[in-house]
Amino acid sequence: MIRYVSTRGGDGPHGFETVLLTGTARDGGLFVPDRLPAWAPADFAALAGLDYAETAARMIAPFVADTFDAEELRALCREAYAGFDHAAVAPLVQLDADTFLLELFHGPTLAFKDFALQLLGRMFERVLERREGRLAVVGATSGDTGAAAIHALAGRRRITVAILHPHGRVSPVQRRQMTTVEAPNVLNIAVRGSFDDCQRLVKALFADRALADELHLAAVNSINWARIVAQTVYYAWAAVRLGAPARPPLFAVPTGNFGDVYAGHVARRMGLPVRTLVIATNENDILARFLATGHYRPRRPVATDSPAMDIQVASNFERLLFELADGDGTRVAGWMAELAERGAFRVPPAVLARARALFRADRADREETRTTIAHIFRESGVMVDPHTAVGIAVGRRLRAAGEGPLVCLATAHPAKFPDAVAAALGERPVLPPAWRDLERREERFLVLDPDLEAVRAAVRRHAREQQR
Ligand SMILES: *Cc1c(COP(=O)(O)O)cnc(C)c1O
Repeated sequence: MIRYVSTRGGDGPHGFETVLLTGTARDGGLFVPDRLPAWAPADFAALAGLDYAETAARMIAPFVADTFDAEELRALCREAYAGFDHAAVAPLVQLDADTFLLELFHGPTLAFKDFALQLLGRMFERVLERREGRLAVVGATSGDTGAAAIHALAGRRRITVAILHPHGRVSPVQRRQMTTVEAPNVLNIAVRGSFDDCQRLVKALFADRALADELHLAAVNSINWARIVAQTVYYAWAAVRLGAPARPPLFAVPTGNFGDVYAGHVARRMGLPVRTLVIATNENDILARFLATGHYRPRRPVATDSPAMDIQVASNFERLLFELADGDGTRVAGWMAELAERGAFRVPPAVLARARALFRADRADREETRTTIAHIFRESGVMVDPHTAVGIAVGRRLRAAGEGPLVCLATAHPAKFPDAVAAALGERPVLPPAWRDLERREERFLVLDPDLEAVRAAVRRHAREQQR
């Protein structure tokens, strides 16, 4: 049975249920499994005829076996992916002879985060029913995560959700996707401030132990292990469809918090044949700089056309560091302390060499992103969003001739970022039918100053009303 331990060596082992409900480990680290399932090439080949939900149930089962039996998990996966608007759930679209788009934007909020959160919401509900518990999910968002969390948790029993976003600083589509959800268990708070203010407020709420215990606060940010596991599935799904294990693909992954590309790495560690994983970043290129120099040094984040990747501290990177340190949590804790105290750390050459053997990385700036959007449209008539374009640009640059199929993860629907797409093409992408009346739907949100007392009172009132 897989158990979970902290990357800093001071928490665990725990079962999956604890890891699902807690998010971060008590010592400040992230949970990782104490071992991974070892699949043979034939096990992956056997996925070939299965639909997406069944593929998910098979791949996720070993990670959650102490919490959900196979039938229960299968039902959760079926429900989670039934609401996607494409029969294939994650369709592959061919761009040229050997380049493919893996479309991960057919879920309820048009971004790949639905893959994990639709399942997570259902797992939460099932576990809470069983233990007759309650949960108040609180989170800060710069856009996609908040919308995906709200759509995954709206109307779920025993769960309330409060999401903070910076007032006037998320795209209108992203805001409306959050604020037009009518379920009474959903609270949107627009904070007069920046995303950093929102994050600081959420951290302060979690630091208030009395409040956390009273309301049973829980997080759904990208460090939750359950999200990583759910995201391993589409790597295997795509690879198998393109002829793996015989033809191992390269994956190009638009990267911010390192969650998505790390999930690809976990699939590879389970045995999935992968040629390489390409980390594609925008101007916020800490990961590309790390792989070039071995020096991990965050800078001030800059605003780009791909805002979901405007991140300088890639939280999930700690999980890779744990592996590179051969599971030595003390060593990871040392690097993290250095980062906190001196603003940077450096890994020795041997560690860097191992990281380089696993990943390639580079960045694409705004101009290259826009040129790529235009080029893909001319070349194949496909509109891609700016995040996806960063992945395509970097993936094509770092692939050598004859290396095998390149799979570029399409992480958001182009209509979620219409201004950047229009700037590149002179043409605005259109929302899918289910979202066409978004502008006419009624919005509901509180506007608050970035004041902890005010936010705490609002979150408490909302959770209590709902938990009665
Ligand atoms: C969240 C997000 C990303 C970045 O994913 P990480 O797991 O944080 O690396 C990329 N593209 C889109 C559209 C996103 O919403």
